[in-house]
Formats: sequence, C-alpha cells, structure tokens
Amino acid sequence: MQSFVYTSHQQRIVFGAGTADQVRAEVERVDGKRPFLVAGPRVAERITAALAPLTPIVFGAAAMHTPVDVTEQALRMLREADADCLVAVGGGSATGLAKALALRTDLPQVILPTTYAGSEVTTMLGETANGRKVTRRSPALLPETVIYDVELTVGMPVDLTVSSAINALAHVVEALYAPDANPVTDLMACDAIAGIASALPRVVASPDSLEPRADLLRAAWLAGMCLGAVTMGLHHKLAHTIGGAFGLPHAETHTVLLPHTMAYNAPAAPAAFARIAEALGAPDAPTAVYDLIAALAGPTSLRAIGLGSADLATAAELAVASPYPNPQALSERGILALLTDAWHGRRPTPGPLSPADRLTEQVVASFAAAPDPRSKHLLTGLVRHLHRFVVEHDVTETEWSQAIDFLTSTGQKCDDTRQEFILLSDTLGVSSMVDLMTNSRTADTTPSAVLGPFYVDGPPTRPQGFDLAAGLPGAPLWVDVVVTDRRDVPVSQAVVDVWQSNADGFYDVQLPDVDGPVLRARFRTDDAGRLRFWTILPAAYPIPADGPVGELLSAVRRHPYRAPHVHFMISAPGHGRLITQLFVAGGEYLDSDTVFGVKPELVVDFAARTGPTPDGRAVDGPWHSLSYTFRIA
Ligand code: NAD
Repeated sequence: MQSFVYTSHQQRIVFGAGTADQVRAEVERVDGKRPFLVAGPRVAERITAALAPLTPIVFGAAAMHTPVDVTEQALRMLREADADCLVAVGGGSATGLAKALALRTDLPQVILPTTYAGSEVTTMLGETANGRKVTRRSPALLPETVIYDVELTVGMPVDLTVSSAINALAHVVEALYAPDANPVTDLMACDAIAGIASALPRVVASPDSLEPRADLLRAAWLAGMCLGAVTMGLHHKLAHTIGGAFGLPHAETHTVLLPHTMAYNAPAAPAAFARIAEALGAPDAPTAVYDLIAALAGPTSLRAIGLGSADLATAAELAVASPYPNPQALSERGILALLTDAWHGRRPTPGPLSPADRLTEQVVASFAAAPDPRSKHLLTGLVRHLHRFVVEHDVTETEWSQAIDFLTSTGQKCDDTRQEFILLSDTLGVSSMVDLMTNSRTADTTPSAVLGPFYVDGPPTRPQGFDLAAGLPGAPLWVDVVVTDRRDVPVSQAVVDVWQSNADGFYDVQLPDVDGPVLRARFRTDDAGRLRFWTILPAAYPIPADGPVGELLSAVRRHPYRAPHVHFMISAPGHGRLITQLFVAGGEYLDSDTVFGVKPELVVDFAARTGPTPDGRAVDGPWHSLSYTFRIA
C-alpha cells in the first residue's frame, strides 16, 4: 500500500488559442486597475494592447535566476506607480520576477507563460544574491491566474522549444520517483511524458502549427503541476547547482543532463522507470530521451553549452555537498562519471534489456539508414507493435504458421478483378480507420468512405440525365446532387465517378454475362455545381466470401454483407479528391456493415415517390429520389 499526503492549491487556468486577449478581464477579476507588466520587447506591445484601456507600467529587464537587485529595481518602479497587480508574460525568468514581487507586495499575479518551464504553477521561487541561489516555497508565491495562450508559443525558435520541453520532461521524470509521489502526480506525470514525447517531434517538424504546440503546452502545464507538488531529486539539484555555479543556460543544462541523471537513477527505481519507458513508448527510458534530444538537434554535451572540463570535479563536489532524497545513493565518484559522460555528450549505456526487447531494438536499428524518414517511422512502429503483439499474446509457432498460410492464400486469391487484400483490410476495419484519419483532417467537408474493391478506373463518360441502369431491373432512382467547396460555393465541372450494385447486390465486374460497364459512369457537374441522373435503388450485398477472408468471417460467425449504398468519387482542379458512399436510410445492415464503412452523416433518405418525375421521364409505379450536397476541401 502506498501512503501519501497530497496538497492541492487553488489557481485559475485559462487555456486556448488567442486567450491573451482575455488578459484585461482576468486582471479585472483580481480587482486590478493599474497593472505592473513584466514583459520583454517581443510581447510587451501585444499584451499592452490587450490590457487597454488599462495602461500598464512596463518592466522589460527580468533576468534568469531572479537576481535580487533586478527585483529591487522593479519594486521601486512598482511602488512609484502604485501598481495594484502583477502581469508577467514570458518564460520562467519573467514569471520568477512576478513571484519575487508578489512575495514583497502580496499583489495578485496574472501570468502568461511563453515557454514550457512550468514556474507559473508552482509555489517555489529561486532568487540569486551575491552569486548564490536560494530557493523558497510559499503558497503566497502561487500566481492567482495563468493564461496559457498557444499562440504566444508559436514562433518560439526550435532550439528553445526543444530545450524548454525537455526541461518540462525533467519535472515529470523526477515526479515519478519522488519520495512524496502520489496517485495524482503519477497520473499527470505519465500523461505529460507521453504528451511531450509525442508532441515535441511534431512541433519541430511544423513549428507554426497550433495543434502540436497546444499538445506540448498542455503537457508542460501538467509537468509544472508535478514540479510544484512533489520533491525533485538529483537531476534538478544538479541542473541548478552547476547551472548557477557556472552560469550555464537553464533549459539547455536540463536537456544535456536529463538522460544521464536518468541512467544514474534507473537501477534504483525500476518501477518508476518502467512507467517512464512505457509512456515514452521505448524499452529503455534514458537512451530514449537521449535519442529524442539528438534526433531533434537539441544540446547533448555540457562542453557545447560552455562548461570547462576543469569544472567537472567541482560540480560533482557541489552536487553531494548537502544531502537530499534521491532513489540512487549519491556518490561523488558516481556523479563525476555521470558529468563526464554528459560533458562528452555520450549516449548513456542502455540498462539490461529482456531478450524480447533486445530483439525488437535490433530490428528497429536495422532501419537506421533508411533515407525516407516517414518510411523509417512507419516501419519502426509496425515492428514495435507486431513484436509486442507476439509477446503479449504468447503467439505459438503453429499459430504464426497459420497466419502466414492465411496471408499466402489471401495473396493467391488476388487477380486483375479480385483484390482479397482490400477485402481483408476492409473487414478488419483498417481501411475505415485510415479513412477516419484522413477525414479528421478536414472536419468541415463531407465525410469520406472507403473506396472498396469494385472501383474500375476510367468509367464511361455520360451526359447529365443519363440512366446508369441500362434497362436492368430495379426501383428507379432519381439522383440530384450538388458539389460545393467549404464556403458553400458551387464547384462547376467537377468530375464525379459513380458506381453501385444492381438490385441483386452485384457489381457488373462480378457478372460474366453483363456486357460492358453498367451501373458505373463518369459525369461532370454543371455551372451550378449540380448533377442529375437516373439509376436504380442499390441493394445490400455480400462481399465475395469464397476466399480466405470469407473463411475468416464465417470462423468468427460474422456475415459478409454491406449496407446498400452508392459510391461517389469527386475531383475538381484546386480541390482535394473526395471518395465517399451514400447509404440508404432504413436499409439492411446499417448497424453491422461488414467493412465498418457507415457514418451517420452519410445515411440519406432515398425518398419513395409516385407521380411525375423531375425530368418528365415516364415511370410506371413508384420511384425514389436522392438529394445531397457534397462539400469538398
Ligand atoms: P527564460 O524565461 O529565461 O527564457 C529564455 C529565453 O527565451 C529568454 O531570452 C526569453 O526572452 C526567450 N523567450 C521566452 N519565450 C519565448 C518565445 N515564446 N519565443 C521566443 N523567445 C522566447 O527561460 P525559461 O527556461 O523559461 O525559465 C528559466 C528560469 O525560470 C530559471 O531562472 C529557472 O530557475 C526558473 N524556473 C523556476 C521555476 C519555479 O518553479 N520557480 C520553474 C521552472 C523554471
């Protein structure tokens, strides 16, 4: 049983994009009328404008490690202006100054962080006087309000982004083996580690995109919460000691040291490191962090960030000068070895791997020279998942041999008109999963759906009003659709390919007696983006079940039927191609479509009608009509 004490603090967090605009409202919430604004030139103007009509007194000289003389200079200005609240926008340095001023004045603070340091959510302050940094904790230091505006972090240089994010990662790594760790910080820490490991490479690849920046900032908030809630160990002690003693840059020092302090502590905290490795998605946490930093061109050597080799022994001595809790016993020799490795920028030696992990790493390493980064990424992920699947499910040789035989017969079933692998992908929901991912990138357009195995490239071009059915039996269906862009402007001359099954559920390619393409055509929309044609009501049909995929379905007692639908593929110059299907509302198998292709937005009323038809065509008895608007990207 884990015993613990957890103290929570009250603080208001405003998170989003463009939230800096709410700064005046937040200042007024704490009854501020004359704000004292700590902000560098990069952001002072933006926040001053957002504070209007309040007019702040601006102080732009916050410095790293909160020097007391700078605080006193700011304090004089603040008192002269009779300021009644503190606003800070910037990294840990700006926040540190606001906290130092709050300590001396008890004024409320509204903080807008622009880095991932996390100081804004802690009750700590490290101040420097006469070359010594003294850290204190007090609930009075905690800012009343934090406004996280993702837009303030866009434009942060990539090198600062990497080191600042690894600084945040250090908080959560140490939180997991902290002596006062508790279930709340454990949860936040695991979430933040996974968040940073996933978001940081995406931010580096696309530094101006909001979503990855938002994911990273959210993880950094959680990391700051952990930093504030539990006791940090060797890593923070070392980073602060040698950063302070030798004037090294804060976040870069954290970045270089983290893999090495992790390697030092890992053998003494195996459970915590197993969680860290799991959250990172790697077998060995210290090397995974080193590799992440190296892959993103972050700093990996103390020498490169300005530490002389002659200082290593002094640094090791300082690090063990006063005792503090840490999973691994602190030895000056051990820390000197750690610092020497960090000084040279060496990759930590991986801890002992299980034979399974070693095998996986060997295979992953075999992709190291792949020239295409995306292929390398996908192959690496595939191998990791496959290996984990084999291990987790204890797959036997017989089972794996059956799987190979199954894939072999799937391949052997394929020919020019039969694609058994598409059927396999469809019936396992993989095609629909890829489609969902594609779809999620353009949420304001018509949802797409899988292509399916029956599309034939280059269908016959037909005029508007044409009847696709070519005399085949079935309930007549009048289709009247419009194609627009995302602003609802009609798209004229869009190429629309249409294909569907007959009333018995077969496509023409499945019917040896049918001569030429039937129930498939290529149309163009008119000047109003409109397309009208005749066809017949599609029927539910089974996917071809006479092959290995059919055997698989019957082995798991699944039916092979698709809900009735018409396929559309829409292309127009300057627009993304849309491949989708419209399903007949009330049709069979909507709830159990065998390829998992039904989306609620694509289920449409194919309304039953009687009487005159829209184009005057004579129809005996009832007919159906389908109206729909496709929005394309
Ligand atoms: P920082 O605030 O000194 O910022 C580093 C540099 O980046 C500065 O030049 C700054 O102007 C610039 N910068 C900041 N945001 C930027 C952006 N979005 N785009 C471009 N440039 C930007 O560094 P930091 O790493 O954020 O904070 C380090 C300081 O914070 C240290 O003094 C550290 O001790 C302290 N800290 C304290 C706590 C705490 O809980 N008390 C926690 C973490 C850090």
